[in-house]
Amino acid sequence: MKKLWITYRSFIYSNCTVPAIPQSSTYYWKNHLFATTVVFLIPLSIIVLVPGIYMAYKFSLTGMLLSDFITLGSILAVAFMPGISVFARKIIFNGALYSTSVVMLHYLGSTGPGLLYLFAITVFVLVSLDQRYGYLTLLLNTLICIYFGIALHYGFASSILEKEYPLDSWIAVSSNLVFLSGTAVFLIPKLFNGLQSAFEKQEHLKNKLEDSVENLNAKNKELERFAYTVSHDLKEPLRMVRSFMELLKNKYGKQLDDKAHTYIHHAVDGAKRMGDNIDDLLQYSRIGRKYTTIEKTDLNRLVDGILKNLTADIKKTQAQISIGDLPTMHLVPVSIKILFQNLLTNALKYQSDGQRPVITVEAKEKDTCWQFEVSDNGIGIEPRYHDQVFAVFKRLHTRDKFTGNGMGLAISKKIVEQHGGNIWIESNQEQGSTFTFTIGKHHIVKKNNDSV
Ligand code: ADP
Repeated sequence: MKKLWITYRSFIYSNCTVPAIPQSSTYYWKNHLFATTVVFLIPLSIIVLVPGIYMAYKFSLTGMLLSDFITLGSILAVAFMPGISVFARKIIFNGALYSTSVVMLHYLGSTGPGLLYLFAITVFVLVSLDQRYGYLTLLLNTLICIYFGIALHYGFASSILEKEYPLDSWIAVSSNLVFLSGTAVFLIPKLFNGLQSAFEKQEHLKNKLEDSVENLNAKNKELERFAYTVSHDLKEPLRMVRSFMELLKNKYGKQLDDKAHTYIHHAVDGAKRMGDNIDDLLQYSRIGRKYTTIEKTDLNRLVDGILKNLTADIKKTQAQISIGDLPTMHLVPVSIKILFQNLLTNALKYQSDGQRPVITVEAKEKDTCWQFEVSDNGIGIEPRYHDQVFAVFKRLHTRDKFTGNGMGLAISKKIVEQHGGNIWIESNQEQGSTFTFTIGKHHIVKKNNDSV
């Protein structure tokens, strides 16, 4: 039954609409309104035909019965007959309604639905055709009303009307019909004009947005290429500084005093750190661009792998690490590995001297995401720094106290956001820290075909 209805509806839509007209034109909607009217009017007319046949039989109104069938036939032709333009279908449709309304006025007078039909035609015409055709219906409605008025006044009404009705009541009712038709002719086009300008504005905004996105993508690619080239070009002289410092040490080491050795050490260390900073910046720029392959990932295995990489630090600090039951999710494993690695490395690193790290990793399922917590018993972070530590190159300690370059949490935040989540800290100085982050269950990580 559903299939039959869909076929019926799409057949009428294919006859009564013009596919080439874009949605941004009110004609698209006018045609669709017309098609929808035809779709529903056919079954409704068939239902209405039953009391029509009964009335015609009871009062022997053969003319009315004939007219009902002609109207239904015309609407069926509008819906199903091939080879007619949409405009012609609209004219036939409204013409059929006109003939029905005149016949109804003729047989049933002002108490019947004839006048209602006249008003309905004005509305149908206005929602499916131009305003000028609305004016035409206003004129026709007025002429029909005047004609019946004259017929009543000059007494030849009885020859054309089966049932006479008083002229006074006819004038009262028909003048209201003319008034309402006039109101519709002025108001309904205003609605369509408003819609048209809204469509135009929307189209304009859409084009602007598309241009901006295109521009942004081009700029992003350019920036990525720039970052890549800069990092390569910057690392080359750094490598030279390091290797010449090594040469200097190896070749002239014996001639140099302790101070010179310290200077060489600082120069090599500085060059190494700068190299690390450049690598981290490049990694930061790659999150969400190069690392985009989504895979179904068992996070228990992923975290296990990280702990193996951290074995030396874990042994050295005698850390106690407990990992809860973690889910298997669709995500970018390369990024998520970096995220857990950063948080676990920090949890091991930011501890008071002699303190044995106690670290836990937990996962809680929420409606639309998973929430992960990485907690430690380390030195903690004062609340006023909770937002700042996620900034690029932001550190709270000097390098002689804790190694690092302040990029770990910035990269972590970007990874979480890439997965449609948030990251935040609960911590107080000397009271350990909990890093909580969420990862959307259905977040589609956007792919970008960038080669950097
Ligand atoms: P890095 O560790 O390389 O300095 P991060 O971006 O990972 O850079 O961290 C930024 C700062 O946040 C660190 O310098 C440190 O002060 C603070 N921090 C990060 N993790 C912790 C933690 N688990 N406990 C205490 N402080 C932390």
